[in-house]
Amino acid sequence: KSNSKSKVPKDGLYPEIIRKNYLGSKKLLNKKAVISGGDSGIGQAVAIHFAREGADVAIIYKESDKDAKETQKLVEKEGQKCILFKGDVSKKAFRTKLLDKIKKDWKTLDILVNNAGIQFPKNDIEKISDEQIQKTFDTNIISMIALTRDFLPLMKKGGRIICTTSVTAYRGSDHLIDYSATKGAIATFIRSLAVNIAEKGILVNGVAPGPIWTPLVKETFDNLSTFGKDNPLKRAGQPSEVAPAYVFLASEDSSFITGEIIHINGGDFVGG
Ligand code: NAD
Repeated sequence: KSNSKSKVPKDGLYPEIIRKNYLGSKKLLNKKAVISGGDSGIGQAVAIHFAREGADVAIIYKESDKDAKETQKLVEKEGQKCILFKGDVSKKAFRTKLLDKIKKDWKTLDILVNNAGIQFPKNDIEKISDEQIQKTFDTNIISMIALTRDFLPLMKKGGRIICTTSVTAYRGSDHLIDYSATKGAIATFIRSLAVNIAEKGILVNGVAPGPIWTPLVKETFDNLSTFGKDNPLKRAGQPSEVAPAYVFLASEDSSFITGEIIHINGGDFVGG
């Protein structure tokens, strides 16, 4: 009998968050990770895969308490702690509150996953407002640099910073113009920061997903029937197919890798 929960429905929009048969081998035992956008899609899958590997997680999220609580439950089911922080990463006051709480509760931080991101529906450049440009840059890249700067003093040798960029950083996007520009900036940030803090023994890497079924794409792509069809594997991926790369980059297995970006996109991909 098939398990309807683990099945991807016809439109692909049930995000599969834990990889089938993913047992975990406690690669992140006793580690503490902050994950921005850890309530939904890719970030949620990362939170649960990290928990299965033995890490406690703190999740930053903006809107849905329901998704955040659901994620917390799934993390706790793996025997790990899950702290929830609701707020906007692009607001300084929120970042300060967050940092104070992590300092108080954890004192140190092992892994920072900079994953929160937004995109507006595809549009021609003439139709993009100043507000949209500002919001996309504030959320996707400016707050990423600020959050990293704020948390760095809590991290020590062996620490990991993992940032979510996108296939659009490399390929561009026909109609996600401001979004793809922020993702290009993230790719450059990853390489620059890796060199800048190499001496501290903190490794900085990234993941560049291609088309992945998450709530984000449902809101912003108008034609989901073709979403992800133009890569060699001819399908979009699931969050559960992206999260193991974050585990790898957070673990000892990647101890000689820094400034790199893992591309997870079903093969060479054109469009976005
Ligand atoms: P998602 O919408 O499911 O998750 C993103 C989460 O980020 C949101 O749920 C929200 O809680 C959080 N967030 C957004 N703005 C925030 C803010 N200002 N403050 C705090 N939290 C905020 O989307 P997803 O697809 O899982 O996206 C995760 C990352 O992956 C994003 O950076 C996105 O750009 C990137 N990405 C996604 C795809 C894809 O096809 N889904 C492809 C390439 C890159």
